[in-house]
Amino acid sequence: DNAISLRQLTKTYKGEKGRPGRRALDAVDLDVPRGAFFGLLGPNGAGKSTLINILAGLVRKTAGEARIWDRDIVREERAARCAIGIVPQELNLDPFFTPRELLEMQAGLYGVPPRERRTEEILDAVGLGDKADAYARTLSGGMRRRLLVAKAMVHSPPVLILDEPTAGVDIELRRQLWDHVRELNRQGTTILLTTHYLEEAEELCDRIAIINHGRVVACDSTPALLRRF
Ligand code: ADP
Ligand code: ADP
Repeated sequence: DNAISLRQLTKTYKGEKGRPGRRALDAVDLDVPRGAFFGLLGPNGAGKSTLINILAGLVRKTAGEARIWDRDIVREERAARCAIGIVPQELNLDPFFTPRELLEMQAGLYGVPPRERRTEEILDAVGLGDKADAYARTLSGGMRRRLLVAKAMVHSPPVLILDEPTAGVDIELRRQLWDHVRELNRQGTTILLTTHYLEEAEELCDRIAIINHGRVVACDSTPALLRRF
């Protein structure tokens, strides 16, 4: 079984004023095995965010199928959504909420009962244990990113998706972020990461798919893929 499975997934955005739309994803077939640390690599405009946003339920596919943890994202939308945690590209956080409040709210949204919440533990794991009650507006960019990882893990999803997570994160905080994500992967969480840096995918991922103009042009284990390029 795969963590994520896409068949002929296609997205055509509507064009303006009757002009033809742009095909952002063109019949994409892709399997992300359970337990993988999987990199989706491609230049700006390749279709990475569109793919992630379809999985997140933010963009509607035009055609094809997508399954997350064997749940169809349309017919079993709620179950499919509960199987993923998403770390968005933007560092949008309400500045007047604290990490503790944010995680408690997220746990409520996903129906995690109070006695099963691991707010302190999750914040400790991303190195924000001592910031639990600080306003989000006082957190640095790296801290915000790690808080968004913590938020995505509140309902213990088997799959964690990170969309260009190192944009605007300095080198030391990047290391901390990756150490944490690697640890989640070691504990069994499947990781799907989008990036336009080959070095980043190479260092972290055990499998890489290359996407360009909405098509998957290569997909292989990292060593095998590097031998081809
Ligand atoms: P990436 O994340 O790899 O940079 P995107 O998925 O953001 O790629 O974009 C893929 C293509 O779809 C690009 O040509 C982009 O301009 C277009 N696109 C993305 N979002 C929209 C939208 N909301 N409306 C129209 N076109 C879009
Ligand atoms: P299915 O309904 O497809 O059988 P399950 O939820 O029963 O899926 O899980 C299948 C496998 O995934 C099991 O080995 C289980 O231990 C593992 N698994 C389930 N949830 C998680 C999770 N949150 N993190 C890591 N592994 C998980």
